[in-house]
Amino acid sequence: MRNRAIRHTPDHSLQPTHYGLRRSHDHSSASHDGAGRERSLIRALILGFAIAAPLALIVLWPHAPLAGAGLVALSHMLLLYPTLRPNVQWLGPVITHFATSRNEVWLTIDDGPTDDTRAVLDLFDRHDVKATFFVKGVLAEQHIDVVQEMLTRGHTVANHTHAHPSGSFWCSPPGRVASEIDACNRAIATAAGTAPRWFRAPVGMKNFTVHPTLARRGMRLIGWTARGFDAVRSDPREILARILPHLCPGAIIVLHQGREHSLRVLEYVIIALKERGYALVIPEDAQLQTRAAQI
Ligand SMILES: [Zn+2]
Repeated sequence: MRNRAIRHTPDHSLQPTHYGLRRSHDHSSASHDGAGRERSLIRALILGFAIAAPLALIVLWPHAPLAGAGLVALSHMLLLYPTLRPNVQWLGPVITHFATSRNEVWLTIDDGPTDDTRAVLDLFDRHDVKATFFVKGVLAEQHIDVVQEMLTRGHTVANHTHAHPSGSFWCSPPGRVASEIDACNRAIATAAGTAPRWFRAPVGMKNFTVHPTLARRGMRLIGWTARGFDAVRSDPREILARILPHLCPGAIIVLHQGREHSLRVLEYVIIALKERGYALVIPEDAQLQTRAAQI
């Protein structure tokens, strides 16, 4: 099971993946290309400004307090915007799509494993779908057999934090960010035999400590091209309508499991994608792409 390779690309120069994990760290950092350097500079400027702004406030306070307060507010906004906007990359790289010359997309399923996982796997088998499950560590711990079944049935498993603190992960200190990532990695490793290399933040919000924490672990932050907002909506037509404008070869699509409507939504979206000629595949790590400084 551990050596099972999931191949959907004719590029035989690529090494097999192990549940989304590559042993080597090729392509793990964009810091060697122009976009990576630009991103590093933007990050340094934002963090530097965040440190300098309070000092400026102290200096300006006797003469121009409003200007000082304005600088502090601006520095906070420059930190908050890329934190709260999932695909904005000012503070570090976010994977937003994958390179392909084929009509194929990557379906990613968040928040499992849940009671409907086996039904989701059956649905995928019926429609010849391969997908990646971004699981919660606390659930993976409780359902190791289900995680293993995801893998044996040809899918990949990735990290979606341990407890999924969607309301607070974005403002968590470095220690909590690391423990959320590490605990989920341990849960997945228990089931899979190896830790994953892909991570998605709860609701996509990631503060400036997430990027270096992932980089130290050789992990990559996965965003998306299209999301259906099916965690808060249930009408399959409405969810599909939110995805279709962003649909293109190499798109990353986010849907969820564990909701009352999840199976219905998944089947509706999968059929619609297939009708448009798309295969649902898992990309190789080397295919994953970022968009520099995307707003
Ligand atoms: Zn989630």
